[in-house]
Amino acid sequence: MPGMLKTVLNLGLDDKTVHGLAKQTNDERFAYDAYRRYLQLCGNVMMGMDWEVLEKILEKRKSQRGYSSDTELTMEDLKVIVMAMQSAIREVTGRECAFDPYSQLWEAISAVMESWNSPPALAYREANNIPAEWGTSVTVQAMVFGNMGDKSGSGVVFSRDPTTGERKLYGEFLRNSQGEDVVGGIRTPQPIGALEEFIPECYSELVDVSQRLERHFRDLQDIEFTIQNEKLWILQTRAGKRTAQAAVKIAIDMVREKLISGKEVFNYVTSDDIEQLLHPVLDTKIERKLVATGLPASPGVASGKIIFDPEELSGLVSDLGGEYILVRNETSADDFPGIRVAAGVLTAKGGITSHAAVVTRGMGKPCIVGAAALNIDDVKEQFIAGDGVVRKGDYITLNGATGEVFAGKLPVVNPRPSRELEELLVWADLIKRLNVMANADNDQDAKLARDFGAEGIGLCRTEHMFFHTDRIDHFRRVILAETEAEKAVALRKLLSMQKEDFTRIFEQMDGLPVTIRLLDPPFHEFLPLPSATAELRVLAKRLGIPFGKLEEKLAALTECNPMLGHRGCRLGITSPQIYEMQVRAIVEAAYDVSKAGTTVFPEIMLPLIGYVQEVEFLKDLVTRTSEKIREERGAEGLKYKLGIMIELPRAALIANELAGLVDFFSFGTNDLTQTTLGISRDDARTFMPFYLKNQIIKTDPFITLDETGVGELIKTAIEKGRKTNPDLKIGVCGEHGGDPKSIEFFSRLGVDYVSCSPYRVPVARFASAQAALKGEGQGQTMANMR
Ligand code: PEP
Ligand code: MG
Repeated sequence: MPGMLKTVLNLGLDDKTVHGLAKQTNDERFAYDAYRRYLQLCGNVMMGMDWEVLEKILEKRKSQRGYSSDTELTMEDLKVIVMAMQSAIREVTGRECAFDPYSQLWEAISAVMESWNSPPALAYREANNIPAEWGTSVTVQAMVFGNMGDKSGSGVVFSRDPTTGERKLYGEFLRNSQGEDVVGGIRTPQPIGALEEFIPECYSELVDVSQRLERHFRDLQDIEFTIQNEKLWILQTRAGKRTAQAAVKIAIDMVREKLISGKEVFNYVTSDDIEQLLHPVLDTKIERKLVATGLPASPGVASGKIIFDPEELSGLVSDLGGEYILVRNETSADDFPGIRVAAGVLTAKGGITSHAAVVTRGMGKPCIVGAAALNIDDVKEQFIAGDGVVRKGDYITLNGATGEVFAGKLPVVNPRPSRELEELLVWADLIKRLNVMANADNDQDAKLARDFGAEGIGLCRTEHMFFHTDRIDHFRRVILAETEAEKAVALRKLLSMQKEDFTRIFEQMDGLPVTIRLLDPPFHEFLPLPSATAELRVLAKRLGIPFGKLEEKLAALTECNPMLGHRGCRLGITSPQIYEMQVRAIVEAAYDVSKAGTTVFPEIMLPLIGYVQEVEFLKDLVTRTSEKIREERGAEGLKYKLGIMIELPRAALIANELAGLVDFFSFGTNDLTQTTLGISRDDARTFMPFYLKNQIIKTDPFITLDETGVGELIKTAIEKGRKTNPDLKIGVCGEHGGDPKSIEFFSRLGVDYVSCSPYRVPVARFASAQAALKGEGQGQTMANMR
């Protein structure tokens, strides 16, 4: 929890002992610098004062004297500052700082213990699933001093670059300073390279130590150090927070360096990392206005409205989807509740190893620090950069990878996987047991899915093809037809269009299965709302139907509960011509492309099955239609698979009866969740946020599968289905097919494939490998500790 728990440095100093320290070190200025630092931490950490009140005393003196850095403060200045801080503490808290070192120690211990329950610590734990009951301990440690003059200093290094993963010492150093200056984000330190020129022996020792620590812990190290009069001291080391890009590169490099095994890679990278690597990047083709540049502390693109107060921000945004960029002079770990809900963070001061930067990197949140040209006015809630004024509420865009800040909200594009990610995913494919398919409705999505490594299409929602502007009217004519002949004309038009769609998809998926679902949504979804009178009038005119007739038809199609109404296979049974047309389009396209040399594996899928008789009826329809085409063409029979979607509890419960009739089951977990829980997937938003916030349920069941309820039905259906039909192929094509936690569950149940949107395919491939390894008893350990 970097920076969330408190630290008190220079403890033991008071008006008497400060003289002792001065005498012992023969450096009175140093002793007073240490003392004013103690007072700042005592006031803030032990007595609950605002850090800024005390920091302002220091800043005021500096500006009175025209200094730009803390090191220019003389002993006299520091004495004045100490007195001013003491009286400020007295004034604000009504108490004195404890004078007896032992009382100081106990007060400090209590303050550190209490920081376990501070708002930033609570928010951090919530965001990172750290149980509150773990508690904390306090380390009492002798001090070494980085503020002992020019041959001293403090800093933070990472054994590799935590942003890119590059194998080189990375970090920052600040001369004549204490660690708080660097990690607190109060000052902007120098890159670590400066130490090499300044004290070369310490630099090479630091390189050596960081490598030794990394070999010992077998992971990236985040090391805090102090140099006291040319002697290097290591204060602390821990597994370093890293960006997703660095996580992948470091893990792969460590395998090459024989630090870890190939399988262990999956313990060092998380599915969140994979997801982040596929987050949108700035569209470089678009013209943009650069506002400022800072240090690229955490990559990614974020656009949002500017806000200056982290507390206001955390009150404003209750979920994590807010579009705000938090802009601060400096930001510390205390601001975590605001940082957490911000889309990105921008600061004028601070370095890339400050706690705030470390935390954003760990969260995958874009962050730019040390943008020195920003002139922030907290009172007016605006900043000046160059010749422009940017005010609270104005949009800016951060490019965390380059440190560039742009005016306005800029468009983004989806990136391709990097070489390292490709490599990792190839490893994943070698380990995973589940096939990863994609949900794709057209040839472009199919291509994308294939590029992302999909092993076929697990769900092609054919209705999406009807929504195209050039087709929807044909489909409306089918729905509104008064006579069979009228309907047949419209269906013929749709047939040639659907056939063309399937042809392109089959070509794109040459050699891989393509699962096509027959029409699912209720008819009224293809028509304007009954209340949209103007639109209806235009439509009636276009279709040549009297307006009254259209209104009448629409009224007849209206349902109170369409999700449980006339949809899915029920449409195929009551309007068989539509399914016949779709089957014909699939079969004819398959014949045509295979004649041209493409290898096709068509799979026809029936939605919303609940009864055996429905499957029998539609199986007959599919068989008859394909047989008819075979006869028309005088060709050999086409091989295709027939399957059903399990989206209703009844289907799951009678799986043994259904399995003998089909080749595959595909769990439509979106509908299965809604029908099992009795929670409408479209209306859950009305109460789900409340349920989640109040922990009535822990996770949204439409995102992560409800294992105990819906999962039990799936388990039952698989067991019953495979008993009747041991060759039954089993897949999942609801949104849960791309959710890592649900994938782990499906893998445990022995599902054959999951199908998800093309962009989630890499995540699903990775999560499937992790699930397989977990099955072998190789659990996630290192990544959990990050
Ligand atoms: C499902 O219900 O899980 C499914 C994939 O079908 P749709 O989302 O199209 O209803
Ligand atoms: Mg469904």
